[in-house]
Amino acid sequence: MHTGLPVVFVRFAGCNLKCSWCDTDHEKYVKMRVDKLWRIIEGFKCTNIILTGGEPTIQDYMRILKYWKCDAEYWIGIETNGRIQIPQKDFELFNWVTVSPKPHYYHNLKQLKGDEMKIIDEPGLTDLDLNAAWWNNNRNFDYFYLQPMSGKRIRKTVERIKRLKSPWRLSLQCHKLIGIK
Ligand code: SF4
Repeated sequence: MHTGLPVVFVRFAGCNLKCSWCDTDHEKYVKMRVDKLWRIIEGFKCTNIILTGGEPTIQDYMRILKYWKCDAEYWIGIETNGRIQIPQKDFELFNWVTVSPKPHYYHNLKQLKGDEMKIIDEPGLTDLDLNAAWWNNNRNFDYFYLQPMSGKRIRKTVERIKRLKSPWRLSLQCHKLIGIK
């Protein structure tokens, strides 16, 4: 949905899942005070921020969110695997919520609403899984995205989207395609 928009990604360390294909090094992290993090963010001169991970909901993300939300200019999104429910009062502070469930618990999501649902098109994923994910959640999400795993097998994902009756859209990790780290 926001492809091409300049965004500062704040990547939290650690995750409550262990996906076999995860490309995040969970052992490498830097502890940082909120005010120091804020100064770094300000240096980017960019008012769009996405909290991601790892998994941001296992960290004290509200301390950071409240700090930033003093300034209404900031647009703040979160990307979560949906394994932990975001309390309603916190949910309302976000401008955008992406829920990205992973294969081992497609049917056991805790965060059951958001702006977008994004699923990685990994090898074990079936059309049935995707139809069920859409059928169970279409009232609570506005957009449904399917993303080729690690940017590979894009053609296969395109073919799957053409085949499915539900309204999945293609999502590409553009930063990887153009070599931004
Ligand atoms: S949910 Fe995301 S960050 Fe966590 S293990 Fe899976 S791919 Fe990695």
